[in-house]
Amino acid sequence: MPFHCVKQKRCKLALYSIKNQDIRNINMAKKKVKEEQGVSENQGVATAMTEAGAENAEVRKLAPAPEENSIAYKLLSLYHLQCIYSEIDKIRIERGELPNEVRNLEDDIEGKRTRISKFQEELNEMKEREEIENAKIQESKALISRYEEQQNNVRNNREYESLSKEIEYQTVEIQNSEKKISKVQAAAEIKTEEIKALESEMKEKSEILSQKKSELDGLIAEHEEKEAELLGKADVLKAKIEPRLLTAFERIRKNARNGLAIVQISRDACGGCFSMIPPQRQLDIRLHKKIIVCEACGRIFIDEQLVKEDLERAAAAAEN
Ligand SMILES: [Zn+2]
Repeated sequence: MPFHCVKQKRCKLALYSIKNQDIRNINMAKKKVKEEQGVSENQGVATAMTEAGAENAEVRKLAPAPEENSIAYKLLSLYHLQCIYSEIDKIRIERGELPNEVRNLEDDIEGKRTRISKFQEELNEMKEREEIENAKIQESKALISRYEEQQNNVRNNREYESLSKEIEYQTVEIQNSEKKISKVQAAAEIKTEEIKALESEMKEKSEILSQKKSELDGLIAEHEEKEAELLGKADVLKAKIEPRLLTAFERIRKNARNGLAIVQISRDACGGCFSMIPPQRQLDIRLHKKIIVCEACGRIFIDEQLVKEDLERAAAAAEN
């Protein structure tokens, strides 16, 4: 039974790199022809294309699936399990970030609500101050009319002058209160505008929030369904892997920071911890006669070619 890689993206990437390899083959062949034979470039390209074409045909001839219980088979089983696990990890990380966005919005709205009520309190205080000043004005006005009346009944100049001074004093008091009122009114106007702006921002954010919330609910349901499906696939695969190997794999995965328990070699280094792998060890990995782990991080190595052939088989099976 051919293996199907669950991680479609990886499959595509792998196929893409095969295409890149073809292009490199063409370029290399082109260079070789030019250097060794010294023929014209056009001719060289034609030869190179034929060479690459022949190589392509070879690539399309699928490598046979590894025998059950062979090391290659075991490695590929682990690799497929790893693909499923990585997909599950990705879903869990994504799901973990989604509620954060909603929580940030909720905090933002709550902050605005607090500011609005604080501003509203300040506004109320301003109105109270205005009322106090208005009451003072009324008081002063009453005093002035009383003093003016008294001026009509004075016995001498000194009394008249003294009442005039009182009237003058109250007039200044009225002017002071009026100044205070206009100041407080200007401040209240600004505060009212600020409250209005905050309220409209809050309304906007609330709309986004309710949208995000329903989005989040939908995504969580979708993710849970996908995760359950992936876990089911993982269970099927796990049943086919020998328990000792599976336990080791799970242990490595648990300790690996990126959740990768089986890795390929990339640029002569471990694909998990990036320690350099000596050439002899790389050769052993390519031969896959036994399971080889990274001496630095303990991750299991899988040969790149093995993965590539497997992807090609899966792609061919998907086409048929
Ligand atoms: Zn390593």
